[in-house]
Amino acid sequence: MAGRLHGDKPVRGLVVIPRRSGGKLRYLVGMVELHTPTLLLVILVLSAAVSATLASGARRFQRDGMRYWAWGLGLHTLTYVLFMLRGHVSDLISVVLANALLAASFALMSEGVQQFLQVRWPRWLVWAPVPFVAVVYLALLGHPQIRIVIAGLVIAWQCSFIVWQLASQRHRITGRGAYIVMGSFLAIGVAFLLRTVGALSGAVGIGSITTPNPLLSATFLFVAVSLMMVCQGLVLMTNERADERNRTLAMQDELTGLSNRRFILEALSLHLAQAIRNGKPLTVLMLDVDYFKTINDSYGHLSGDRALRELAACLKTRLRGQDLAGRWGGEEFLVVLPDTDAAGAWVLAEKLRLEVENTPFTARDGRAIPLTISVGFHTVVPEWLGTADLDTLISSADQALYRAKQNGRNRVESA
Ligand code: GH3
Ligand code: MG
Ligand code: MG
Repeated sequence: MAGRLHGDKPVRGLVVIPRRSGGKLRYLVGMVELHTPTLLLVILVLSAAVSATLASGARRFQRDGMRYWAWGLGLHTLTYVLFMLRGHVSDLISVVLANALLAASFALMSEGVQQFLQVRWPRWLVWAPVPFVAVVYLALLGHPQIRIVIAGLVIAWQCSFIVWQLASQRHRITGRGAYIVMGSFLAIGVAFLLRTVGALSGAVGIGSITTPNPLLSATFLFVAVSLMMVCQGLVLMTNERADERNRTLAMQDELTGLSNRRFILEALSLHLAQAIRNGKPLTVLMLDVDYFKTINDSYGHLSGDRALRELAACLKTRLRGQDLAGRWGGEEFLVVLPDTDAAGAWVLAEKLRLEVENTPFTARDGRAIPLTISVGFHTVVPEWLGTADLDTLISSADQALYRAKQNGRNRVESA
């Protein structure tokens, strides 16, 4: 099909190939023939492959942008089919519709990025280029040169918008995939801008999209490579975030955001090993909310949940950076205090107990919930570190907590 298009002559382009010979790096400079219709075909095939790849990875329940990206690249494929039909079908289809679809494909990519980031920008910022391109192209059907300038500016704007969306939300992104995506869209934007500059300066006469032209070929080469990079980047970006989520889920308690039991146990074992190596004391606090069952019964389970969240936040703000609090289960919390002796632990435990007693916890209906905690702790001093083990540490703190409950609650006991 490509060989049948009008103006179908290859164009020579410069290539630089690095070669190592005799330990020295030399460059082979040569000419390759860039064949514009073939490049269009390459983009078309790549676009279709990338769209299919993303569609196969997209899940209805995962709102991670993947479906938008797959649709966007599907539309991109269709656009290039129409481009290749230039001269064989009406210009209304191969020029006006094709370019409006191209703008729509970038708009869909932009929607995907927003869904991925869980942020919404005004819809018109995303979609305005589509009617704009359709109307302007209809008006400028007889002026290809001006059309190329406008196309370049619109695509450059759409690509920059996508890059800006990702760049402005860097705190929501983990890993490097997003940088590959940003770099690729930037490359596409720059390629189209260069073509615009070429058309504006008149340095390169640009006729039809399938007419051989080094600048046009370079643009399409850029787009072809960038498409592959965009796909890699999007998949990487999505996987990196899924990995991060799994890591967080594996470490964090969902309700309170504190470390979960598994993580706090691992951390405690690490701190115990460090304490033994450095000959430093280590304390474990076990906290339990008093009469929590009654609180649930009086204020409702959801208000109970809310109180637990507020209690966790209260603990987090009162602890030092080196201390670690986790949810042991139900309404019980475990706090690891590295490098803390019994006297220091007592002061801190009392401070936490008083803080909780004086903090106004609120039910969902606004009523105040009177909350108190009982605390039991166990400190391993350096002389006993040799015989210390995880189970003894925790069960001693637990026994101290039991005593605090027995002795009237809202109090601190040491093992
Ligand atoms: P004590 O002073 O002896 O600790 O009395 P208590 O009522 O706090 O102790 P008990 O162990 O009898 O009850 C704990 C209650 O904590 C029972 C359970 O329904 C509640 N609970 C455990 N996990 C959660 C949770 O995630 N959310 C809510 N709202 N309640 C929870
Ligand atoms: Mg309790
Ligand atoms: Mg309990």
